[in-house]
Amino acid sequence: MHTDTYRHKGMRKVLVKLLKEKGITDERVLQAIAKVPRHFFFEKMFLEHAYQDKAFPIGEGQTISQPYTVAYQTELLQLNSHDKVLEIGTGSGYQCCILLEITPYVYTIEYNQVLFQKALQFFKKNNLNPHTFCGDGSEGLPQEAPFDKILVTAGAPVIPKSLLAQLKVGGALVIPVGDEQSQKMVRVVRETSDEFTREVFNNFKFVPLLGKSGWNK
Ligand code: SAM
Repeated sequence: MHTDTYRHKGMRKVLVKLLKEKGITDERVLQAIAKVPRHFFFEKMFLEHAYQDKAFPIGEGQTISQPYTVAYQTELLQLNSHDKVLEIGTGSGYQCCILLEITPYVYTIEYNQVLFQKALQFFKKNNLNPHTFCGDGSEGLPQEAPFDKILVTAGAPVIPKSLLAQLKVGGALVIPVGDEQSQKMVRVVRETSDEFTREVFNNFKFVPLLGKSGWNK
């Protein structure tokens, strides 16, 4: 069982300062990073890595995203406290916990069964209640749509049309799109029922989005 000490809180403060220096300005995001103990998602022997600004392996060939990436994507979502948000790629559950600090209406889907079970146990143990799903999220979660916001935390080859169809009018999708080496962060806003605007931001490197509308592996 991990404990959260003053030392860990101090390390999160330093991390938040670094994220501010790197350009993150959304106070809700910075407060969430300051609050969620990222070291809870690390094995005891790797605890020293938890507050470094880097991605880290979580098993099954997957990673917990770099704190800057988590902050960047969450800031782009412009999440409000009443938003219903879908996260595709639960992974460790860390990003989900950041979302839960901002809104209670979080839906999260993970493809890998081992990671899904692990995240589920983490949520239960910590009395957290996101809506959790195991399966291919590359086409979203039609049975729970529409969503105010959709966040994809794995790199997609294209923007799946089904995700756009699951956005409310005024809602936004944040998704890294590109090849397997590098992806550009894209935000698509549904302006009206059939009009969408697209903005392209910085380059990132994510693990691939698998499944029907992903890399299909
Ligand atoms: N958000 C995670 C966190 O905070 O730890 C990090 C996500 S990791 C970079 C990407 C995750 O997406 C992996 O756990 C991977 O198994 C998952 N994934 C890949 N393709 C998926 C799909 N089609 N549906 C759902 N999850 C998928």
